[in-house]
Amino acid sequence: MSSVSIEQLNAMRHYFASGATRSHAFRKQQLLALKKAIIAHEREIYAALYSDLKKSPEECWVTENGFVLSELDHTINWLSAWMEPEHKATNLLNLPSKSRVIKEPLGVVLIIGPWNYPFQLLLTPLIGAIAAGNCVVLKPSEFAPATDVVMQKIIESIFPQEYILYVSGDGATVIPAMMHHFTFDHVFYTGSTAVGKIIYKMAAERLVPVTLELGGKSPCVVTANAHIQVTANRIVVTKFSNAGQMCIAPDYVLVHVSVKEQLIIAMKKKIVQFFSEQPIHSHEFGKIINEKQFHRLIGYLKDGTVVHGGEYDVQHLFIAPTLMESISLDSSIMSDEIFGPILPIISYDTEEEALSIIQKNPNPLAFYIFSNQQKEAERWLDKVPSGAACINNASWHATNHHLPFGGRGFSGTGRYHGKYSFDTFSHEKAVLQTPTWFDPSMKYPPFKGKLKLFKKFI
Ligand code: NAD
Repeated sequence: MSSVSIEQLNAMRHYFASGATRSHAFRKQQLLALKKAIIAHEREIYAALYSDLKKSPEECWVTENGFVLSELDHTINWLSAWMEPEHKATNLLNLPSKSRVIKEPLGVVLIIGPWNYPFQLLLTPLIGAIAAGNCVVLKPSEFAPATDVVMQKIIESIFPQEYILYVSGDGATVIPAMMHHFTFDHVFYTGSTAVGKIIYKMAAERLVPVTLELGGKSPCVVTANAHIQVTANRIVVTKFSNAGQMCIAPDYVLVHVSVKEQLIIAMKKKIVQFFSEQPIHSHEFGKIINEKQFHRLIGYLKDGTVVHGGEYDVQHLFIAPTLMESISLDSSIMSDEIFGPILPIISYDTEEEALSIIQKNPNPLAFYIFSNQQKEAERWLDKVPSGAACINNASWHATNHHLPFGGRGFSGTGRYHGKYSFDTFSHEKAVLQTPTWFDPSMKYPPFKGKLKLFKKFI
């Protein structure tokens, strides 16, 4: 293998088997140590995320280190309750047995992160994995190198390598080298759908269960009953956060023809208000991660008419917050996940028309409905299967750790955040405990002639 040896992974297996990671006291201690280290490295985290993505400290707090600290607090508070066995009812056939579900740690798990929220998307699943009592191999994205360095420093300063192993490097080399030689107990992957398929195949070879947090095109529907000013605020703030490099950013807008012009005017105004006339110098506006992504994104500008923005500068990896219309539905911008600060706006007349556009990319990671008519919003909610949805909002569902976060179909499989993370990294083991003082002969052969009795009890 490249940077990790099979001996290192076997050492993790032995450490897990020793039972060291199982107690509540141990898990809580590790979560507290992680919290302390993240707080201690706050400035370095901001500097790294600025260097990789030009994120401001305020944006970092909401979406990266503050997000992780909030998840940590929630998990530390609830950990003992989550670890409790769940008592279940027992059916007539098994009485007077007692039934429960115990939460068993999975073992040695692999967590793979992407570059867009490089800190949060590696460490949020880590919290669930530690809480559930596992050993963890952490593989960050190689495309956010400054954040990679800080995370490695944090992890290696608090955890021994047989417990949490941090593995940097080129994913295409490092990950197969591990997955082909070692049977992980779970793989938790966040990233593109294309690489997700590769991970899924490698996991299948060894029957390793997976969580796949993938991408896709998350549509926004703005109906004739939407509050246009508030809608513009909420779409603009999330679409252009992190320069649009967010898995749950609104990918495109389907707006009812009667309010299209109004919405465009409102969104243009909001873009200038939030990011200034010169977004290249704005404290609030990030940069594109690298030249490869930059060139991919500017290629989309030819797929329609730019109605706002459209400026770019390769030297600063800057692409202005951009609105586009007159989009050809067959163009790449309507089949690829955009993952950048370019927002196509398409008008529709009937709901069927809008729905047929959404159905070209089924099961989006998120779906956003803007309408002040509850029945209409519910109808849309019902019509579009998606990982998650918001009514009169976009993307903020991810910040509520009481809600499950995950996709379906092409946008992923499995879910996490809060208790859902704990459950993802635990095996729910069914336990039936039967007393010995009652042992009726009807349960044993000969069964001949007992059919009537069985029909009564089963
Ligand atoms: P990516 O798939 O290129 O990389 C993700 C991880 O996979 C990295 O750690 C990388 O090293 C590794 N990797 C890359 N090639 C590999 C290979 N051949 N074999 C094994 N591992 C490999 O994704 P990205 O570009 O970092 O992230 C962007 C994508 O992630 C977008 O599609 C976005 O929607 C998605 N995403 C999803 C979520 C979510 O929560 N659902 C969150 C953020 C990003």
